[in-house]
Amino acid sequence: MVKYSIIVPVYNEQDTIKIFYDAITPVMKNLNEPYEVIFVNDGSMDNTLNILKELALSDKNVKYLSFSRNFGQQAAIFCGYEHSSGEAVITIDVDLQDPVEVIPEMIKKWKEGYEVVHGKRKKRKGETFFKKFTSKLYLKFIQGISGLKIPQNVGEFKLLDRKVVNTLINMPEHGRYLRGLTSWVGFKQTEVEFVRNERVAGTTKYSLKKLVKLATGSVVTLSTWPLTISAKLGLLGGFLSLACFITFIVLSCCKIFLPLAAWLFPTITMLFSISFVLNGLTNVYLRKTYEEVQNRPRSIVSESGNFDD
Ligand code: UDP
Ligand code: MG
Repeated sequence: MVKYSIIVPVYNEQDTIKIFYDAITPVMKNLNEPYEVIFVNDGSMDNTLNILKELALSDKNVKYLSFSRNFGQQAAIFCGYEHSSGEAVITIDVDLQDPVEVIPEMIKKWKEGYEVVHGKRKKRKGETFFKKFTSKLYLKFIQGISGLKIPQNVGEFKLLDRKVVNTLINMPEHGRYLRGLTSWVGFKQTEVEFVRNERVAGTTKYSLKKLVKLATGSVVTLSTWPLTISAKLGLLGGFLSLACFITFIVLSCCKIFLPLAAWLFPTITMLFSISFVLNGLTNVYLRKTYEEVQNRPRSIVSESGNFDD
């Protein structure tokens, strides 16, 4: 018998938890296999924690962890991973935007041998055009600078095999961005499509400020490309000013003399370029240092043979 873990981050969700619980319980019971639902209370200020305590008293499959303050959804998910014991671990939002009926489909894919099953939104109800547009643009950007194939229209709703969860929690870095890191670790991945519903109750817990923080944090976590901009700009400026100097010298040879002030332009650009390149050199070492500090595994073995003893 396998065991499943469901990780649910909750922040000021007193209106949704019970509705979620009533929806997920029959789905999990129907599977006829052991399971745990781990709620991670991310520093809620409403009645969330009391509701979780009540549920945990009446149902041993319900567990909860409660943060001392709001650390964010990503931190809540990773904490849930660290405390989970299932062979397949599913992360889901509490507001039922991610339909619980998709979980058995994800499990089916997992049983077929997939180690990462992403929930893919084929329709997103209740989201503004602005949100959909900016998240698409942002994904293109992050794919470009990280070189990772992060799938489109995929959020935190996914199933991970125990192997993948262990790989993620053993990565010592603090900057954690689930959508990017699940692509980074590799493994056999697939998707299950679903229609994203509107929130069942309450309002979104993601302010614009939180979204911006998540977006900038994930860029830094997944890519050191911005550190290369300085050197690239410096080299480009250097070539352009050199070309300008050569043109001026050729013109002088042809007895076309430019005013002294004109020579100032390539001189200043050249000086700036040198400074940019030197800064870029520092960044080469900064990049290396950052990668060392992140201390990601140099490779991840997903299977091996005859090494048992
Ligand atoms: N959440 C959290 N901490 C936060 C913000 C959100 O644990 O700081 C939880 C929230 O309770 C929900 C999930 O993360 O279960 C997704 O949040 P929400 O539905 O508000 O985001 P949206 O769907 O609007 O992007
Ligand atoms: Mg939501």
